[in-house]
Amino acid sequence: MIPVWVQVLYLFAAVCFILALKGLSSPKTARRGNLLGAGAAVVATAAVFFERPLDNIVPILVAVGAGTVLGAVGARRVQMTQMPQLVALFNGVGGGAAAIVAVLELNGLAGDAGAPPVVAGAAAFTAAVGSVSFAGSVVTFAKLQGLMTTRPVVFPGLPLLFGAALLAAVITALLAAVGPGRMSGAALAALGLLAGVLLVLPVGGADVPIVISLLNAFTGITVAAGGYVLGNVLLLIAGTLVGASGTLLTVLMARGMGRSVLNTLFGALKGGSTLGAGTASDRPVRSAGPEDVAIMLGYASRVIIVPGYGLAVAQAQHALRELGDVLMERGVEVDYAIHPVAGRMPGHMNVLLAEAQVPYEQLVEMDEINPEFKRSDVVLVVGANDVVNPAAKTTPGAPIYGMPILQVDDAKQIVFMKRSMRPGFAGIENELLFDPKTTLLFGDAKETMEKLLSAVKAL
Ligand code: NDP
Repeated sequence: MIPVWVQVLYLFAAVCFILALKGLSSPKTARRGNLLGAGAAVVATAAVFFERPLDNIVPILVAVGAGTVLGAVGARRVQMTQMPQLVALFNGVGGGAAAIVAVLELNGLAGDAGAPPVVAGAAAFTAAVGSVSFAGSVVTFAKLQGLMTTRPVVFPGLPLLFGAALLAAVITALLAAVGPGRMSGAALAALGLLAGVLLVLPVGGADVPIVISLLNAFTGITVAAGGYVLGNVLLLIAGTLVGASGTLLTVLMARGMGRSVLNTLFGALKGGSTLGAGTASDRPVRSAGPEDVAIMLGYASRVIIVPGYGLAVAQAQHALRELGDVLMERGVEVDYAIHPVAGRMPGHMNVLLAEAQVPYEQLVEMDEINPEFKRSDVVLVVGANDVVNPAAKTTPGAPIYGMPILQVDDAKQIVFMKRSMRPGFAGIENELLFDPKTTLLFGDAKETMEKLLSAVKAL
């Protein structure tokens, strides 16, 4: 019997998790929400030690200590632009941990004729899906970290092998539910690992983060099922929250990129995108120096800034905010156009600009800002590319085809700040760079932004 005070702590932690999610829904309260969730996780982890007498306390404490140090050092060292990889790795570890617990539970139930089928079935589900989540997350990590190609990897027989692994996992899980054998857990884990790798291999480039979010949802559902197996209500609640929010995020991200989740996962098997070689173009473009662009900006009445991944890489957000402020002091109307998948993680631009203290009211979402480009004199595209690339509308077969974009081509003048003619994440050329109303301001966004700022101040 779990002591009442431990149950109260679990309830407290569960309420905190829900409030933490609520906090994360707005940039203003996100930091507090995050801290609340982390604090509740500490309380919940500590409470487990008092739930019932535990064996092997010392190895458990050593593992907790090692995990804490690795997690803290990893999170502190990681660049914000590498956050999706870190999330993938942490998520994979969660799924893997749940799978190991389930395999051990199945081993414990092996040969027990009285094992309740629902519990054995839930353990079988956890072992298989947790392994999918672990293996899939490791592959997404390798793709985003550049340890393997980011292009879809497809080989003859992949769909068949994937289907066979899934079918075998379902049959093994059903057999384990009615009577777990000694090898049920290990077989399910092996099939799950195979299915996880095969699920993620064909997903390429821009779609990888959607899959990370999907695997995150898988881990949540796995943990919830694990909670049921262990009779731990808090795991059940926390897992359900992660599963539900991960599912919603997956659907929203897929919508942001203009495709269905199924198309994201299996598009490459049907032929998928054919473009995306990622080479720099040598076609002629019009470029200018910071002084010329400063004149354009200083004499405009409406400027829209489009931030993208390159802004985060260059860490130019503070100089950009200062530029926005100086322009507004000169009477220019300035807004920041936020594309839902600009950067490398959901909300990346909101976080970046909030860090530079750009007022929230100036951050305008895509649907709201798109009709405004017609009214703008200059659009300043800072380290963004795919999110303004008209190929999303005009080039079937492009990896971003169908993704809603910021309609910057409606503006009178466009300035791109980037270092070279290299393409963005999707690896395809952007026709807008060659448009007669486009000017390129080449250089690292931070250095050029500082020069541009001085030039605007000197006007
Ligand atoms: P892109 O990756 O399309 O383009 C980034 C641009 O920044 C490039 O043109 C690059 O050009 C430039 N750049 C890079 N470093 C610098 C620097 N130091 N200074 C100046 N410019 C720099 O970014 P977008 O934000 O437009 O689009 C995001 C892409 O990422 C989309 O394809 C999206 O699908 C994908 N994605 C989105 C995720 C999300 O959840 N937000 C997650 C993962 C992927 P150059 O090299 O010439 O400087």
